Parts: sequence; C-alpha cells; structure tokens
Amino acid sequence: MTEKDNTYDVIVVGGGLSGLSAAKLLKANGLNPVVLEARDRVGGRTFTVRNKETKWVDLGGAYVGPTQNRILRLAKEYGVQTYKVNEQESLVHYVKGKTHAFPRFLPPMWNPFVILDFNNLWRNWTQMGEEIPREAPWRAPHAEEWDKMSMLQLFDKLCWTSTVRRFAILFVNVNVTSEPHEVSALWFLWYVKQCGGTMRIFSTTNGGQVCV
Ligand SMILES: Cc1cc2nc3c(=O)[nH]c(=O)nc-3n(C[C@H](O)[C@H](O)[C@H](O)COP(=O)(O)OP(=O)(O)OC[C@H]3O[C@@H](n4cnc5c(N)ncnc54)[C@H](O)[C@@H]3O)c2cc1C
Repeated sequence: MTEKDNTYDVIVVGGGLSGLSAAKLLKANGLNPVVLEARDRVGGRTFTVRNKETKWVDLGGAYVGPTQNRILRLAKEYGVQTYKVNEQESLVHYVKGKTHAFPRFLPPMWNPFVILDFNNLWRNWTQMGEEIPREAPWRAPHAEEWDKMSMLQLFDKLCWTSTVRRFAILFVNVNVTSEPHEVSALWFLWYVKQCGGTMRIFSTTNGGQVCV
C-alpha cells in the first residue's frame, strides 16, 4: 500500500445511515472520505436478517413515511422498494406470550373514562412537546425537571386507567424500542416532536409507519 492510499480528506466515524450518507455526499463533492465502523457490518441501527423461515425481517429501522424525504430519496436512488402497511387487518401486539389485536393503531375504547384519560394523556404530552425547542431542548422552561423524570414517572402522573397506561407504554416501546423507565421525559418528548408529533410518528396513514 502506498502512502497515497492512506490519505483521506475526511474521516467519518460510524457506518450507519448517517455516516454512509455523509461519505456519499463528500464523495459526490470530489472529496476522498473513509468510513470507520466499529462493528463487522455497516447499517448501524438498521439490520435486516434473511433466513428461509421468514425470508427477511428487520430487527432495526424499517418504516418510512412522509417528511422522511432524504431516506425516501436514497431508497429511490438505490431501487429499494417499499410497500404500504396493511391497514385492512388488525395490528397484533405480542407481549409476554399473549397477543393483543388492535383494529387500527389505537386500542379499542368504549369506556368513557378511558376516552377521557386517553384525551388527557394525548393533550398533555402534545402540550409538553410544544414547550421544547427543536434545536435546543435543554432550553425548555422545564428542561431540568423533565430530564430527571422518566416517561414511566410521567405516566404515573398522567394516566388514570390501566388501558391508557398500557397504550402509553406501548407507544414508547414502539417508537424508541426502549422501556419507559429507560428514557427521560425531555428526551422522549423532544424525539417525538422531531418526528412530527404524536400522531405523525405513530400513524400508518400519512405517518411514520406508512411504508416498509
Ligand atoms: C429496533 C429499531 C427500530 C427502528 N425503527 C425505525 C423505523 O421504523 N423508522 C425510522 O425512521 N427509524 C427507526 N429506527 C431508528 C433508525 O434506525 C435510526 O434513527 C437510524 O438507523 C440511525 O442511523 P445513524 O447512522 O444516525 O446511527 P446508527 O445507526 O446508530 O449508526 C452509528 C454507527 O456508528 C458506529 N459507531 C459508534 N461509535 C463508533 C466509534 N467510536 N467508532 C466506530 N464506529 C462507531 C456504530 O457501530 C453504528 O454502526 C429504529 C431503531 C431501532 C433500534
């Protein structure tokens, strides 16, 4: 290997989608980048497993929707096909060996207390999100208090019914693949805001879960 082979204009640390996209852009602008990846594969938090039982299954990022224009553009450029999520059938949530079917993306609600509780939860976390500046979440008026509080502690304060509490926990599980006690309220509410808000991040219709 000659000395020239070891000379790069830019070192990109991490071969996830961000690092690979950065390197692609740099290359397109005539620079010579190198991507350093700690693992033995690229892709980071996207990871597709292929086997004969399932054909393929995404263990990481899979869904895309409106406003995710850059990833949609990349998919198009590389001919990655997407398909719409099936909204005709129920969603199935599998937890601790039991399956729970949802007719759409929300749990069935007929009990007026549950409806009120759900409305209260939705209104509260939307309002909290509105207080958090996108570019500087640490400047939110309650930043310190909310950063010390986990989402589970927030649910303890906000939720009255077990149905809504279960939904709230599922909402955190689905969106950030973590348990509510693991994430700070400030971080989670900021994350949801960045993704276009509570409806957009979770919806299959015109939302973050519309296409795979
Ligand atoms: C289970 C799961 C489901 C998800 N579902 C969705 C979804 O449906 N839709 C969606 O839009 N998003 C989803 N996401 C989020 C999405 O996958 C991530 O936002 C995205 O992949 C992040 O890409 P990134 O390149 O910024 O970071 P990462 O993918 O985390 O990449 C960072 C890379 O840097 C490497 N690295 C870190 N430190 C070093 C170091 N010091 N030296 C060298 N390498 C280093 C890591 O090994 C990794 O490969 C999901 C995430 C998970 C985990």
